[in-house]
Amino acid sequence: MFGTLSDRLSGILSGLTRRGSLTEEDVNAALREVRRALLEADVALEVVRSFTDKVRERAVGAEVLKSVTPGQQVIKIVNDVLIETLGGEGESINLDAVPPVPVLMVGLQGSGKTTSTAKIAKRLTDRNRKKVLMASLDTRRPAAMEQLAVLGQQVGVQTLPIVAGQSAVQIARRAIEAGRLGGFDVVMLDTAGRVTLDDTLMEEVAQVKAATNPHEVLLVADALTGQDAVNTARAFDARVGLTGIVLTRMDGDSRGGAALSMRAVTGKPIKLVGIGEKVDELDDFHPSRVANRILGMGDIVSLVEKAAQTIDAAQAQATAQRMAKGQFDLSDMRAQLQQMEKMGGLGGVMSMLPGMKQAQSQLTNAGVGDKMFKSMIAAIDSMTPAERKNPDLLKNSRKKRIAAGSGTTAEQINKLLKMHRGMADAMKMMSKQKGGMLGKLGGMFGL
Ligand code: GDP
Repeated sequence: MFGTLSDRLSGILSGLTRRGSLTEEDVNAALREVRRALLEADVALEVVRSFTDKVRERAVGAEVLKSVTPGQQVIKIVNDVLIETLGGEGESINLDAVPPVPVLMVGLQGSGKTTSTAKIAKRLTDRNRKKVLMASLDTRRPAAMEQLAVLGQQVGVQTLPIVAGQSAVQIARRAIEAGRLGGFDVVMLDTAGRVTLDDTLMEEVAQVKAATNPHEVLLVADALTGQDAVNTARAFDARVGLTGIVLTRMDGDSRGGAALSMRAVTGKPIKLVGIGEKVDELDDFHPSRVANRILGMGDIVSLVEKAAQTIDAAQAQATAQRMAKGQFDLSDMRAQLQQMEKMGGLGGVMSMLPGMKQAQSQLTNAGVGDKMFKSMIAAIDSMTPAERKNPDLLKNSRKKRIAAGSGTTAEQINKLLKMHRGMADAMKMMSKQKGGMLGKLGGMFGL
């Protein structure tokens, strides 16, 4: 299922530990899942290839920002490239021309073309205060012409009176003329659809285009048809030239694959999306929302948080293992401090660890508050790896250097070292008590 891409990615990415930069191996592992998920979502193979190439190019060797994990970094890059591929900001219908502005609606039968024509006409009338005229050019299907007239009445938009026996080009010309005489801002031409792409259809659409010189040629395509929608877009663009796409049935369980492919294959913007059968169920296209849909999650934040939790758990496990051996250096302490800070400070974490109750009151007495976590972490970050491993190295001159480097005072560093000693001693004592506290602690971390 496509919806689980986020789970798969976080599964893979949680295995990545914090490192300076992303390796090709890390990125390739993640990209294998991205590729599979995109193919399952019916994204065209060529699009999948160029997409993963783009992500790889940007991700391999990328510096992992200090505040995020490698997993978060990869997900962010995948998300960014998705949004870019989908068209960045999103574009709306362009009516910047001398009225009446002709808008040509093209697409296969059943794609939602007539409904979308009425939806757009309603939107332009209600929101943009445009005077819109609609005309059906479907000479072979009187029912389609009737349908547009009924929809027009429903949304309060005029339709061109039906005259039997006219060709599509004749009706189109008459519509533009009526638009001019009637002082309309926009004339929407709903061309005939066919069940499949064929030459007659393309020829007719090309002729109507030549006769009316439309400012917008919008392809209406059904998002649920995936690959077929992409082939339709390619064919229409090659034959008549498109200016944009209206993607219908985005209210269905389409996973957005068609949107991604169509934009990438035709280079034409998706301007609007249909989100239901009702005449007001039309929405602007939001690339970031579709990117979220493709990643298979409500929002990127939840995934990032999930990834962060998994990585924290791995780190906690490593620390617990070291503690069990009676080792507890300043790097371990830094990990603990950071965890505490995240989990709501002293009260939040230490009260959960039986062995830490005592340490907590000691710390509180010593004036160590939650605010101090940040400066303590900064101080540890200013130490050399050797100092973190062996705090005994920290004589006065070194303390001064660290204080200056981290914006703390020598006194704060002394407090930090005292706290570390207290914690390390407690660990040692516990590790000697067989089946004692550390055993329980280890159990908490799944050891
Ligand atoms: P046309 O043959 O391309 O003109 O297609 P229609 O406009 O007649 O639409 C075909 C069917 O699709 C109708 O039942 C519409 O109500 C329905 N439809 C159109 N757009 C949407 C959409 O965005 N979502 C849903 N769920 N149904 C739609």
